[in-house]
Amino acid sequence: MKAIVLKAFGGPEQLQVEEVPTPQPGAGEVLVKVHAAGVCHHDLLHRAGQLPGAHTGVVLGHEVAGEVVQVGAGVLQLRVGARVVIYQRRFCGQCRDCLRGRQDLCRALGLPSVDTEGAYAEYLRVPAISAVELPDGLDYTLAALASCPIATSVRALYGEAALKPGETVLINGASGGLGAHQIQLARALGARVIAVTGSAQKSEFLKSLGAHEVIVSHQGYSAEVWRLTGKRGVDVAMDNLGHTLEDTLRSMTLGGRVVVLGNVQPGNVAVSPGLLIGRRLKVQGSGSATLEELRVALALIHSGQVRPLIDRILPFPQVAEAHALLESRQVSGRIVLSGW
Ligand SMILES: [Zn+2]
Ligand SMILES: [Zn+2]
Repeated sequence: MKAIVLKAFGGPEQLQVEEVPTPQPGAGEVLVKVHAAGVCHHDLLHRAGQLPGAHTGVVLGHEVAGEVVQVGAGVLQLRVGARVVIYQRRFCGQCRDCLRGRQDLCRALGLPSVDTEGAYAEYLRVPAISAVELPDGLDYTLAALASCPIATSVRALYGEAALKPGETVLINGASGGLGAHQIQLARALGARVIAVTGSAQKSEFLKSLGAHEVIVSHQGYSAEVWRLTGKRGVDVAMDNLGHTLEDTLRSMTLGGRVVVLGNVQPGNVAVSPGLLIGRRLKVQGSGSATLEELRVALALIHSGQVRPLIDRILPFPQVAEAHALLESRQVSGRIVLSGW
């Protein structure tokens, strides 16, 4: 089969199409013909050698939708021809966390692209428990986004923050892959959305996704949040950037819930214990999602309540161009690879 192999850490030119042996599914595994693979910022970091423990000589890609073409021994739930999306990281299905439905906490294995084969290939071999069947008629390119950007936001907004109808939610980094889907998820639930972006040109786009108010901010946004909420503050915040946490904390109402999802400028931030105590704030981190949250993401896409944001679809051999475009930030939404 054809696969795109990472030859060495470096620029997009290190991604090269090669002929490699087609994997054979073992017991409990299925072979999936890849119809669509999303290109994630995580892939860029891996390629550039910025992920601890990452390897070269591997095939990247963890945002994948495709068709089951071969089934290994002992697979009961999937048949050849099933249309599936793959959960974004490997999990064992046997540990205490997996068995209580928290596959996102499983320590057994890693991202497919970190320690084994990934989705930038014609075929992908995965454990059958990682494959979730698509609702009828759902397009492969849309489904490819369900796992990483959308289910991750389902976990953060619905799972960790437990956002409720009528509450107000602050979403920063709002035009990014997480933020733009969070706006739609919050609207689907009946919440009021205040979106924060660094770019005035993105304002209309964010409103078209469902943001009630958009703050264009370079210097901070808490004063504007205070004004928009009648000096009450927001109930929930999605901090998709990380270095902005201090300003986010100042934007919260009493008892507010803050979820940190991003670490765009790695480093430390100042946190006032007095503010945490005085406002009774809850601050937590979040990342990836459970298998059940992937199902929720697929259902929301299928019902039209969340529209996966795709900038463009490119054939697999143009993967280097996809990486370069994403790096130059000339895209809004995901680039999805499809076809050879
Ligand atoms: Zn991803
Ligand atoms: Zn496990």
